[in-house]
Amino acid sequence: MKDLIAFLHLSDAWNILIDALDEADILKIELNNIFFCQTVTPACTANIKFNKDLNFINFISLDSSIFKKYTEREQVAIILHEIGHIFFPSDDINEKEFNADSFAASKGFAKEIILTLNSSPLDDARKKKLLEIIVIEN
Ligand SMILES: [Zn+2]
Repeated sequence: MKDLIAFLHLSDAWNILIDALDEADILKIELNNIFFCQTVTPACTANIKFNKDLNFINFISLDSSIFKKYTEREQVAIILHEIGHIFFPSDDINEKEFNADSFAASKGFAKEIILTLNSSPLDDARKKKLLEIIVIEN
């Protein structure tokens, strides 16, 4: 996760993220070969070097120009959501988003996910599910 440390090093987001993840999560990130790629609009390149023992890679790309618009907790919520996609995959588009949201919510970031969503039928359904999680927790 060195790539992510560099991306987040100027903010508290890194510490917030590390506090949110437990040891099992960190191990799962390693086992899933999750790499973070900082992208800059409108274009960027990513150089991927595979070593002989690495036969798959999961990339999480983060657009730094868009990312800056979010608070540090919202940034962490987005990263947790993306990690959730890898931990709990699904072929169903709705279930895929709900699974990723549930992972972020399980780490205490349901409210922040809601704040990052737009208004669309899928996002509205996601907000509803996240609000249900918040109500159950309180
Ligand atoms: Zn998603």
